[in-house]
Amino acid sequence: MNCPRDAAALELKTVGHANVQTCPQCSGMFLEHGQLNAITDPTPGDLEFSTVDQDSYQHDDEFGPISCPRDATTMRKVDFNIESNIILDYCPTCHGFWLDANELARINDEVKRLNDAGAEVPDPLLVRISNFFWNLPVPH
Ligand SMILES: [Zn+2]
Ligand SMILES: [Zn+2]
Repeated sequence: MNCPRDAAALELKTVGHANVQTCPQCSGMFLEHGQLNAITDPTPGDLEFSTVDQDSYQHDDEFGPISCPRDATTMRKVDFNIESNIILDYCPTCHGFWLDANELARINDEVKRLNDAGAEVPDPLLVRISNFFWNLPVPH
């Protein structure tokens, strides 16, 4: 597979118990169907479904639409969570997610902000995803 941003060949990196396709150039990554659930803490319900289901409306973000690296379907924008304004790319065909490197950094910032504030996190989805993203190498 190749990066949908810069066409570099994606490389497998081990993250937790999963092998994730990552881009050596821009540090974006492609999460295959089931991978988001597999690498976060086991919780009832389908994490990926709830992620996608939160997006009842379409957004534009700073990046244009991209094609899925697996099957070239045009990916849809979905909210990571409502308040953070972090937008992920989701493939309706293979149900994979594309995350840009700056999105990982922003998710980490968001989690850090909530932790520093000692905030009650009302969204269990954010907590579960953050457990995964904390462990990722974030490019600077
Ligand atoms: Zn790339
Ligand atoms: Zn796809």
